[in-house]
Amino acid sequence: MNLRAVKGMNDVLPDEIGRWRKIERIFREITEAHGFREVRTPILEQTSLFVRSMGEVTDVVEKEMYSFARHDDELTMRPEGTAGAARAYLEHKVHSKEAVTRWSYLGPMFRGERPARGRLRQFWQAGCEVYGDQGPVSDAEMIDMLVTLYRELGVQNVSVVINSLGSGETRARYRDALLAHLLPRRAELSEESQRRLEKNPLRVLDSKSAADKAACVGAPSLLDVLGDDDRAHFDGLRRHLDALGTPYVVDGNLVRGLDYYTRTLFEVRGEGGELGAQNALCGGGRYDKLIEELGGPVTPCIGFALGIERALLASAIEPEPRANFVYLAPLGEAAQSALLVLARELRAQKVEAQLDGRGQKLKTMLHRAEQSGARFAVLVGDGELQRGVVTLKDLTARTQEEIARDVVVRVLTDRLAGAPS
Ligand code: AMP
Repeated sequence: MNLRAVKGMNDVLPDEIGRWRKIERIFREITEAHGFREVRTPILEQTSLFVRSMGEVTDVVEKEMYSFARHDDELTMRPEGTAGAARAYLEHKVHSKEAVTRWSYLGPMFRGERPARGRLRQFWQAGCEVYGDQGPVSDAEMIDMLVTLYRELGVQNVSVVINSLGSGETRARYRDALLAHLLPRRAELSEESQRRLEKNPLRVLDSKSAADKAACVGAPSLLDVLGDDDRAHFDGLRRHLDALGTPYVVDGNLVRGLDYYTRTLFEVRGEGGELGAQNALCGGGRYDKLIEELGGPVTPCIGFALGIERALLASAIEPEPRANFVYLAPLGEAAQSALLVLARELRAQKVEAQLDGRGQKLKTMLHRAEQSGARFAVLVGDGELQRGVVTLKDLTARTQEEIARDVVVRVLTDRLAGAPS
């Protein structure tokens, strides 16, 4: 039997986990500095939640969801984080407890897309949501936070693209203007876009098909039909971004794959590294109507989600080093017992101690110590035990000395912390 991981779903092995953890740590530090607190919602939700929030005529809902029936429930493995967070926000009546809520999340998402570099079927997203704030100050702050985040991650050539989708009225006006542009070109559109044209013409702007892209050249811009309030909101966002010195590009034809967006819409794109064609690092926007549509009170919201795998492809960050790591090599059973005790003492001082308990030759154990990435190796045989000492090897400096057993924990913790001893 050929056992393999599911196509488009990757293992992350311990050698790679250092870079993942670093991204996660930087994400948490920066979002917490901006007042976001982590929420963890289930991977499974009712299918209807995603259909209602993301929109029926979207790629994700039409053909990418992992859905199944179990115990009389229609369930779906979350394709994104916003819907589940909104459901939790409502279910726990958070709106009645605080005026403005800032949540962050991090976890795996599932979409049955065609796998490619940077496009997976299980992928990780980190995201933030602000509930109860109409912006545009929070919009500018969120975009600026993302630019800071990617700079910390060492991603070069980050660009921010913004647009405004306006609110309901703007959309209706824009829909008509876009249809007037696309209807005469109907025959040139992809089959899928022809089918979606009347139901949801904005999707055509978001299509990846070359024919659709060509038909959209010269299409009217959303910004031309914005109502006064929507325009004031968008202008406000631009002024705040200018004040922050956060560079951005306005693209009046930027739309994003989901239906729930209103007003501010943005995408962060990257270049270089191993990113290749999937250059969308992060997408987000306002969804001022979603909470109401899910049965809650009027609650303006804004959020984003960024792909961790794509951040890893684009980023130059190095894994967190295992700086506090000691390898313990005992020769003989008495030494094994002695080093079990020493390992426990070291771990109590937050030192990572790895004990080679397989009873091998000194040379083999030393070789393994070198390979392990440890800074120090502690060697103990019968001689050391009799003299009440250990042999301490500095694997970087390639020096070796005997240290009294009763001071070895202090000597090691000092040296690992960089203090002279
Ligand atoms: P979205 O939820 O579609 O707005 O996507 C937000 C971000 O998630 C994107 O900019 C990507 O970085 C990441 N992303 C979305 N879909 C995938 C996928 N299939 N594989 C890997 N990353 C993805």
